[in-house]
Amino acid sequence: MNPLHLNDILSAARTIAGQPVLLKLETAQPTGAFKLRGALNALAHLPPDAKGVTCCSTGNHGRAVAYAARARGLKAVVCMSALVPQTKVDGIRALGAEVRIIGRSQDDALAESRRLAAENGLVEISPFDDEHVIAGQGTIGLELLQDAPELDTILVPLSGGGLAAGVALAAKAINPAIRVIGLSMDRGAAMHASIEAGRPVEVEEVESLADSLGGGIGLDNRLSFALCRDLLDDVILVSEAEIYRAMQALYFEERLVAEGACVVGIAALMAGKLPRPKGPIATIITGRNVDMTVFTRVITGQDVTLGDYRIEGRSYAA
Ligand SMILES: *Cc1c(COP(=O)(O)O)cnc(C)c1O
Repeated sequence: MNPLHLNDILSAARTIAGQPVLLKLETAQPTGAFKLRGALNALAHLPPDAKGVTCCSTGNHGRAVAYAARARGLKAVVCMSALVPQTKVDGIRALGAEVRIIGRSQDDALAESRRLAAENGLVEISPFDDEHVIAGQGTIGLELLQDAPELDTILVPLSGGGLAAGVALAAKAINPAIRVIGLSMDRGAAMHASIEAGRPVEVEEVESLADSLGGGIGLDNRLSFALCRDLLDDVILVSEAEIYRAMQALYFEERLVAEGACVVGIAALMAGKLPRPKGPIATIITGRNVDMTVFTRVITGQDVTLGDYRIEGRSYAA
């Protein structure tokens, strides 16, 4: 058991839920986010003659693929939309990967990555719709239940669903009664809209404090949609204001710097949006690659403007 990976936390959340809340700190990964698990596993399964890899990304998958490719001496091309924060673009370039900024959505970035795969012989690595990526992210579920077998509920930040699918598969294989709940922001939550519709659907991609949770799930989704639909007990949405307050809580209570995408579980707990748990709850603090200008505004209680959406500033009160 690595004590860095699991901390008992957040007095506010504990009072609200009446149960201990455990944090799985993926912020401690060398690339600052959990996506390294899936990317390393995917690269370990490449065909031996692979010339290089390509992917689309909201930032953290690209950084993980760049890191894993550099470790293996392979070329990596990362395709991203103009919505991806500059700090993430810089982090990927610093690892030696080629970055392509294409269009205004993940769909545009995905199309470019597929074109590169078809025309240049690179192997495309999906951020979430790939068995090796899902299995890699699922190791978080194994570690959680190794460290805390008595867990009642796992709260998983949800975007394309690779993380939620892997964690739910692993956790429910060990304890079929455990509850696994996906959480997304209430603006542009593609997996939630797709589960409601009964098939993968497109959503409008907008700026969010939880930028790592943006983007579609792919209309031709093969794996993560069905796994999330069948294995998640619920999907809960939180507002930008709730994410803002949860980022403040994690910072002031735990002194943790984390992306908006990571705090959706804490946001739901603080907003009283979760059914009452019968035992300990865990949530995954998925990454720390936050835009520091935005982060500074949040923790100092200033207004934050995201595209044409404004979140009203509010000082932290315990
Ligand atoms: C990618 C990502 C998620 C969501 O993972 P999915 O597998 O796409 O659902 C959550 N948090 C962070 C920080 C991420 O980078």
